[in-house]
Amino acid sequence: MKIRVLGAFGAEGLGQRPTSFLVDDRILIDAGTVGGALTMSEQTLIEHALISHSHLDHVAGLAFLTETLAFSEMRKPLTVASLGPVMHALRSGIFNNLGWPDFSEIPPEAPVMQYRTLVEEAEQRVGDCWVTPVPVTHTVPTSGFIVHDGSSGFIFSGDTGPTEALWRAAKGLRGLRAAIVECAFPNRMSKLADVAKHLTPNLLRRELDKLPPDLPIWIYHIKPQFYDEVVDELSTIDPARLVILEQDKTYTI
Ligand SMILES: [Zn+2]
Ligand SMILES: [Zn+2]
Repeated sequence: MKIRVLGAFGAEGLGQRPTSFLVDDRILIDAGTVGGALTMSEQTLIEHALISHSHLDHVAGLAFLTETLAFSEMRKPLTVASLGPVMHALRSGIFNNLGWPDFSEIPPEAPVMQYRTLVEEAEQRVGDCWVTPVPVTHTVPTSGFIVHDGSSGFIFSGDTGPTEALWRAAKGLRGLRAAIVECAFPNRMSKLADVAKHLTPNLLRRELDKLPPDLPIWIYHIKPQFYDEVVDELSTIDPARLVILEQDKTYTI
């Protein structure tokens, strides 16, 4: 399984793109950026977008992708998938003909995208993968995902503060190779992390105890303005196990 990092930041900075990963060229996991990282022809290969939540650093690229696809003759219908409350937030808060056109109705004869509501904590087929969505702890309805291709898989935390159900759902899963976990703020901003439901390096350290001890942890969603500080603090936590994901790099599991 190939995981290409289109963006791994918790916002946008100069040359620093918001959160988006592309699995095996066909499945997006979040879409904070898409067109800023892929060619037109690469974008037309995308068939599914798993969306953790409706915050713009996870969906801004989906808005522009749908428009790009609308003008493409090569496109296949794009399926946008998540838990029910996340789908509701996307429909009512983003693709509502105010924030952006409702591309589930455009063009009428062959809409660019279709919505798919996933079943909570159940494994279901998405493209060539098996996906289990599990609610996590954030300020708006948010899903983490466990993604598996039958031989190997990974956990994606979505934006979350300290959480339980996602780690529990992945317990005992064979072929688990990595957990992609957020870390947004430095330790000195723990009050804000608590209110905004994000992790700091200290909070992350406690989450690691809930995961298998040898599972590699891939960090994403560091806020660009605090990048050096957070990386510095993360370097004190198990360097053999922690990897800070690099934009534009493809990781194979
Ligand atoms: Zn975010
Ligand atoms: Zn968020």
